[in-house]
Amino acid sequence: MTKNPKRSLTELEFDNRFVNELPSDADLSNSRRQVIGACYSRVLPTQVINPTLIAHATEVGELLDLSADEFESEAFAQVFGGNQLLDGMDPYAMCYGGHQFGNWAGQLGDGRAINLGEVVNADGDHWTLQLKGAGPTPYSRTADGLAVLRSSIREFLCSEAMYHLGVPTTRALSLVLTGEQVMRDMLYDGNPKYEPGAVVCRVAPSFTRFGNFQIFAARNDVENLKRLCDFTIKDCYPHLHSDQPGKYSDWFEEVCLRTAEMIIHWMRVGFVHGVMNTDNMSILGLTIDYGPYGWLEDYDPGWTPNTTDAAGKRYRFGNQPSVAHWNLYQLGNAMMPLVDDVESLQRGLDVYLDTIESGSSQMIAEKLGLAKYCAATDESLKTDLFEILILVETDMTIFFRCLAELSLEDQSDDEVMNVLQDAYYSPQYLVGEVRERIVGWVGDYKRRLQQDGYSNEERKARMNRVNPKYVLRNYLAQLAIDRSEKGDHEMIGELLEVLRNPYVEQQGKEAFAEKRPEWARDRVGCSMLSCSS
Ligand code: AMP
Ligand code: MG
Repeated sequence: MTKNPKRSLTELEFDNRFVNELPSDADLSNSRRQVIGACYSRVLPTQVINPTLIAHATEVGELLDLSADEFESEAFAQVFGGNQLLDGMDPYAMCYGGHQFGNWAGQLGDGRAINLGEVVNADGDHWTLQLKGAGPTPYSRTADGLAVLRSSIREFLCSEAMYHLGVPTTRALSLVLTGEQVMRDMLYDGNPKYEPGAVVCRVAPSFTRFGNFQIFAARNDVENLKRLCDFTIKDCYPHLHSDQPGKYSDWFEEVCLRTAEMIIHWMRVGFVHGVMNTDNMSILGLTIDYGPYGWLEDYDPGWTPNTTDAAGKRYRFGNQPSVAHWNLYQLGNAMMPLVDDVESLQRGLDVYLDTIESGSSQMIAEKLGLAKYCAATDESLKTDLFEILILVETDMTIFFRCLAELSLEDQSDDEVMNVLQDAYYSPQYLVGEVRERIVGWVGDYKRRLQQDGYSNEERKARMNRVNPKYVLRNYLAQLAIDRSEKGDHEMIGELLEVLRNPYVEQQGKEAFAEKRPEWARDRVGCSMLSCSS
């Protein structure tokens, strides 16, 4: 395949289908309000003092056919800091609603995200560019429309880390410091302080969320609900585009399927989103809105990084499959006016549950290096695995990489424990019954492996393709933030570079694959995050 020609910023081509084909808010003022009967409001990014590019992803530029040289230009920081528009851009904020923590919250909308337009590359793909933190919009409610450096670094790095792990996600093109100071009360405990402001440019085929549909349904605006559904099917699910009324339930089924696939990936890599409100669920099944997310260190299905969710732990790791189902149920409810029979929507929800069930088992089988999940033998192997993982603090990521190092040839119990040793936070507890159960499980596992007949090397290669060596450990992101806040932005690029190849052992990068150090156990930003960003 020949590579597309590289374009300069001014050569980028825009085809703004969302604004051109969907109803807009007639009020052009940037005042906070309820926006009725429209999918979006036109609004300009706020000017900033001194936009400076501190990180970028060249490969995301490639999606746009953007030449790598352009990142160095003065114009780049101006455009992606929000000071300058390119010809063809037509900025807008989307109107959406959502269920927050299980309760209908009414209109939310892009309160601090401004879509600049849709770039069309030489292949004809559309990529929407969206600035996060570019100032207030009609949807900002009581907030300022801005984003701070720490949360922007987290969004930038995690978007790209997830992509390289093979998880469906929105992408991140650039991270620009604005030169502005932004007031935040990081833990909502009455201690506000100024923090550096920043803007991330996110890139996705569409930023439409479940909540974009829900808001029309909640307002009984069936005409616009239908317009938005038709538009989304035509542009994002073109294979389902037709005049048949059955297309809506077929489409819902595919959204359910994609959402299930995304969730299985989250469970595979140990990602906890933290705020799975329906306004944070992408209609494309992409991971979207990186806020108080976190990565499992010790395996704990009850863990949530989000302090705002500490009481109910609705969005804890192990609850993500159920919450996504609940969210899809809400989307299905919103689509009711467009379908004749409830059963056709139920079909989508059933597909979700079936996919989660079979896909999760298959995913675990792959993590264990099995050729294929076989319920008769593997159900108990799986259940017992999750039991031994919570006996003592066990680093999930390291555990599966260690497991790949096991040899099928006879090993003594000591040898087995030596291979797994690195995964444990407190090896002194690996005695007595704990040790016996782990060794016992490994014995069962090895017996199961005999059935497949892979060599040690083959099995290791298979396992290392699905079990990452490097993830965006919470403390690593925090170290990059600490340095960046002091003016040294190098670690952001260094982390991005390592995370580009998360499954491959990288020489000299051992420090990026280590267990959480003790200092990070209870540190804000590492194990505890709030929605303040
Ligand atoms: P989130 O919990 O980040 O998904 O945000 C929920 C809603 O609050 C969305 O409508 C956001 O656009 C809005 N929001 C979050 N932070 C801000 C902010 N600093 N300024 C304006 N709106 C915000
Ligand atoms: Mg959001």
